[in-house]
Amino acid sequence: MKLSIVVPCYNEEKTLEKFYMKVQETLRYCDFSFELLLINDGSKDKTQQIMDSLASKDSRVRFVSFSKNFGKEAAMLAGMTYAKGDNVILMDADLQHPPSLIPEMVEKAKLGYDQVIAKRNRHGEAFSRSLFTRMYYKIINSLVDVELTDGIGDFRLLSRKAVDSLLQLKEFNRFSKGLFSWIGFNEYIIEYDNVVREDGDSKWAFTHLLNYGIDGVISFNNKPLRIAIYLGLIVTFFDILYVLFMLVRIIMLGVDVPGYFTTIAAILLIGGLQLFFMGIVGEYIGRIYYEVKQRPHYIVKKTSEMNDSEE
Ligand code: UDP
Ligand code: MG
Repeated sequence: MKLSIVVPCYNEEKTLEKFYMKVQETLRYCDFSFELLLINDGSKDKTQQIMDSLASKDSRVRFVSFSKNFGKEAAMLAGMTYAKGDNVILMDADLQHPPSLIPEMVEKAKLGYDQVIAKRNRHGEAFSRSLFTRMYYKIINSLVDVELTDGIGDFRLLSRKAVDSLLQLKEFNRFSKGLFSWIGFNEYIIEYDNVVREDGDSKWAFTHLLNYGIDGVISFNNKPLRIAIYLGLIVTFFDILYVLFMLVRIIMLGVDVPGYFTTIAAILLIGGLQLFFMGIVGEYIGRIYYEVKQRPHYIVKKTSEMNDSEE
């Protein structure tokens, strides 16, 4: 059996070497072969030099470098595309995903699980961050069609079957958490303690997370559109009731002072709703626009294999 460890890296000069040491220490005595596939997602620091030197030192290290930053989703996709292993592990470079779990994950894979998921608890995380995350999952799970669980991220082992299924999903707007759940297969969950990032900065700002949340809802279903339809129907229904009521009132009592306030209120309400749902519809159209363009998810500038043949 061969294992591919796929690691998206964006400005990870401070952690990459540590990560490599840890992985190769952990797997020194394992009974399977592995490759470490590093994806350089357009890093602006010395990440590329580190990858070059690791790849020249250790033939188990391969890399794929993007021409610019395409995002972690694109990096994971590239990793799965280039991975040669029978099983693929996706993990972060910052040691927040402990390499010590790898042997156990592989054990489970050998038992026939197609997705072995590492689930993190939230000890030691900033309170605001974990609060936000919890709220995020509450809201998102009531909105999307697939099941998303707190603490379950991208850190997981995927069998060849699962990887090939994921590669069949060609959508441009990728939301991995949803995709992993969408492909199904039998899964096994391993829990681990949360680790605080050792070095370098997290690449996710708060607004990033918020945008990620919106992506999650919108790229994963059409419920928002459905809400728009229902709400539109309800509002229209009450609007008709109101108009009929006013009409009867005018016929019975004559025109008294027209309700200026209620009129304005109604206009504002409907105007607001319309804007809101036009925004949602616009989001979907924007996504269709991106899908229709059929652009690649990433552009590769250099790989370790190219390196070998050129030099
Ligand atoms: N990452 C990436 N491209 C990006 C942002 C992040 O490849 O545009 C990588 C990053 O190098 C790391 C992983 O994705 O290996 C997770 O990033 P980070 O630790 O910043 O996220 P967090 O753990 O805070 O969610
Ligand atoms: Mg991290």
